[in-house]
Amino acid sequence: MGTDIVVIGAGPAGLSFARALNGSGLAITLIDRQDEAALADPPYDGREIALTHHSRRLMARHGLWQRVPEAHISLIRHARVLNGKSGYSLHFDHREAGRETLGFMISNHRIRKAAYEAVKDMEGVTLLTGASVVDVRTDAAEGMVTLGDGTVLRAPLIVAADSRFSASRRMMGIPANMLDFGRTCIVCRMSAEKPHGDTALECFHYGRTLAVLPLPDNEVSAVITVGSDQDKSVLDQPEAEFNADIMRRTGHRFGEMRLVSERFAYPLVAVHANRFHARRYALVGDAAVGMHPVTAHGFNLGLRGADILAEELTATLRTGGDIGAAAPLARYSSRHSQRTLPLYHGTNAIVRLYTQETVPAKLARAVLLRLGSRVKPAKRLIMNQLTETAA
Ligand SMILES: Cc1cc2nc3c(=O)[nH]c(=O)nc-3n(C[C@H](O)[C@H](O)[C@H](O)COP(=O)(O)OP(=O)(O)OC[C@H]3O[C@@H](n4cnc5c(N)ncnc54)[C@H](O)[C@@H]3O)c2cc1C
Repeated sequence: MGTDIVVIGAGPAGLSFARALNGSGLAITLIDRQDEAALADPPYDGREIALTHHSRRLMARHGLWQRVPEAHISLIRHARVLNGKSGYSLHFDHREAGRETLGFMISNHRIRKAAYEAVKDMEGVTLLTGASVVDVRTDAAEGMVTLGDGTVLRAPLIVAADSRFSASRRMMGIPANMLDFGRTCIVCRMSAEKPHGDTALECFHYGRTLAVLPLPDNEVSAVITVGSDQDKSVLDQPEAEFNADIMRRTGHRFGEMRLVSERFAYPLVAVHANRFHARRYALVGDAAVGMHPVTAHGFNLGLRGADILAEELTATLRTGGDIGAAAPLARYSSRHSQRTLPLYHGTNAIVRLYTQETVPAKLARAVLLRLGSRVKPAKRLIMNQLTETAA
């Protein structure tokens, strides 16, 4: 079958990339191993995604934002970082950023649903669901993708959005920096008795970290990271004990708290591909850069990368060029990695600092919190990175 681009993976990044090419006239084939029902109506997976202002603009431009009912979008107007048992906290306020909000929260399954709906009826798009990619090759003329049933798809360009553990990235010989933190992130929804005040709370306790993020209907998302040797004890903890533990760790500021969802576990492995392209092949989403969730950059970067790649391909089409040629793919890789690399290494450094229990690390944390709070340019810089208001 004739297609211009084969996209491996119809997760949020693969779908956002396809949608960013709406109106380009390109024929795009998206392949996902999940069945159509799971893509059309994804189940709740515990991930609550913090989105920046730039991501909101991109999602609106590509028709995703409008597909999420307003009642399912919450605002982050304040963010507070607490360090261990110290009463001191670093506070970010939306008014200092000159904005109504620092950012937005939407559940991952709702983003995936909106992205699927935006793409499913798009002209030129074919969705192959329940289909696994088992092999990828490219030569000077084209890329070839083999499915589990032996079908071979050919296209001038292959784009991989097949997750941070991308099998096709490995098949294409792209090395990646991979950092296994040996920790697990456990996420769930909880009801809160007292108003959360649209505040995102990050508590760095010894041995574990806890983030509490504001959701609609005064619910919150609890994001707990623990050493992977302890994850079972949190996942299997009786509900009453679990609730009491979270209330204690948050200093009872939310009053009575109750688990209202399942607890979901995600192993914490950060990945950054050494380059985002190979011959007639490009990486987007987590396949390009899979971040530790503590700084909430993962999908924000995925959206940005998808948009940059679509922009480069559209510009190439306008001049009658080859969309699978090295030049536009190299430009994408270079433009996108300028942003991803510092954020990737910066985030990993923060994680190391906030999970080490050595005396110097504890001291450094205390100093950084105070510096972040008192040195206005430093605070503004952090706020700009978090909100991407200026992007
Ligand atoms: C706990 C947690 C909290 C997070 N919080 C935030 C946040 O606050 N803000 C933020 O921006 N990001 C956040 N993220 C990151 C965000 O969830 C990811 O960046 C995003 O979901 C990645 O999307 P993706 O499409 O690249 O990959 P995925 O969602 O992993 O999708 C990959 C798709 O590829 C398909 N696939 C894979 N291999 C094959 C194959 N061989 N054949 C066919 N199909 C295949 C899969 O079925 C899947 O549908 C968080 C992540 C976690 C774990």
